[in-house]
Amino acid sequence: MSDILLADDLVRVLIDEETIQNRVGQLASQINRDYAHLESTLILVGVLKGSFIFLSDLVRKLTIDHVVDFIALSSYDGGESGNVRLLMDTRENMEGKHVLIVEDILDSGNTLDYLMRNFRTRAPKSVRTAVLLDKPERHILPIDIAYLGFTIPDVWVVGYGLDYNEKYRTLPYIAEMKPQG
Ligand code: 5GP
Ligand code: MG
Repeated sequence: MSDILLADDLVRVLIDEETIQNRVGQLASQINRDYAHLESTLILVGVLKGSFIFLSDLVRKLTIDHVVDFIALSSYDGGESGNVRLLMDTRENMEGKHVLIVEDILDSGNTLDYLMRNFRTRAPKSVRTAVLLDKPERHILPIDIAYLGFTIPDVWVVGYGLDYNEKYRTLPYIAEMKPQG
């Protein structure tokens, strides 16, 4: 860890690369076990952009039959219920299929609440969530996470897909940002 040279606006490495890779491997094993006897293909839906690295590491460790899809949303502060907007929808037909939403981080819960409610109207056989990071202190809406990577404190994190103004997404570790003024 001491050999990592951190950018100036990062405070510390919160979760290092090896720890992330081990945990993603454990989550993949759980998913392989839980969906081992599927009668249909599992659809993994990555929430763009933040989940793209987590999703790509996760799916390469899956041994079960699966397809990858994506959805893009925008969220903005200040709204009450309507603060999540659909930018790009999925392409797969979810009807009668098992769906696993893959998300980078659970904060207020608005995004996953929106997705769960939206997807349930499409008559999937099941909808679950795989979330790399959870900030329990920030929850506004209760969300059930089936597969959770790590619980973290209420700080802004970057790396492993997560950004600050599009910066730092491709760091192999998760780092805490200095509070920005
Ligand atoms: P929620 O809808 O649960 O409030 O927020 C989820 C979204 O907020 C995440 O998908 C992510 O895009 C963004 N987000 C929340 N906390 C962080 C953070 O610490 N770092 C980054 N990069 N994004 C975050
Ligand atoms: Mg996100």
